[in-house]
Amino acid sequence: MQLKCCNKIICLKIPFHLQQLRYLDVFDGGSLLRVIEVEAPNLSNFQFMGHRQVQLSLAVGLQFKKFDLSFPGAVSYVCSAFPPSLRYVEALSLGSWREMIDTPVLPSKFLHLKHLSVDLQAMTFPPTYDYCSLISLLDASPSLETLVMNVLQKKMLHESIVGDTSHLRQMPGHRHDSLKTVKIIGFSSAKSLVELTCHIIENTTSLEGLTLDTTRGHPSYSCLTNNIGKCMLLRGDFMVEVRKALLAIRTYVEPKVPSRVKLNVVEPCRRCHDQPLIIC
Ligand SMILES: [Zn+2]
Repeated sequence: MQLKCCNKIICLKIPFHLQQLRYLDVFDGGSLLRVIEVEAPNLSNFQFMGHRQVQLSLAVGLQFKKFDLSFPGAVSYVCSAFPPSLRYVEALSLGSWREMIDTPVLPSKFLHLKHLSVDLQAMTFPPTYDYCSLISLLDASPSLETLVMNVLQKKMLHESIVGDTSHLRQMPGHRHDSLKTVKIIGFSSAKSLVELTCHIIENTTSLEGLTLDTTRGHPSYSCLTNNIGKCMLLRGDFMVEVRKALLAIRTYVEPKVPSRVKLNVVEPCRRCHDQPLIIC
């Protein structure tokens, strides 16, 4: 079932008697919706995308397999509230373009979670946000095999590791021993993002592939695979950050990658690289 919200709905209730309901997608493009109550007992795939936070009231006994949530603050909301019906989730996708607090330590574990997607792309993500706080989410997901993050920012205001002389933080005591594939789209030189990447490399013995994409990641915007088949030129100021990101990868990440891990660094084409440097 796909629901495009009526503007006047404040509370959306999915009642118990909808026993056949397995999939529910709710897209809220700016309504008054505040609360979603789910009682349909066999609902296993749920998606909500909205412009503001909603309160989720999920009946005891629900067991989601796939759960997608996207609104500002969605990561901290799920991690702090941790609805018990997420305990069995296998694929979790969280989207948020603003997190005002670091990701909290989770009160419980996603014991069955295999695929995690965290989409934090924004014009500018709050620069106080510590990407390393996402380690708590990895800690709570012992079966996790695939992690895809999108941290693309048009204008990156996080503290950059380039030019920073302080040491990288080490977060010992965490093991992520099921994780095989990690992809980070919009990779930047944000110090806490580089620290998170190094942490994953150093604490994940199962890691097989690591992709760090310094471009916008989206196929239709990428240099060679877009619909017109030729580069549309990444903006000069974006390229300044791309060059820092590539420098950070070469300096801090590459030396830590063991031989069993395939590192794939995606960078813009030569034409993007060769345009004159514009410092904003
Ligand atoms: Zn290009």
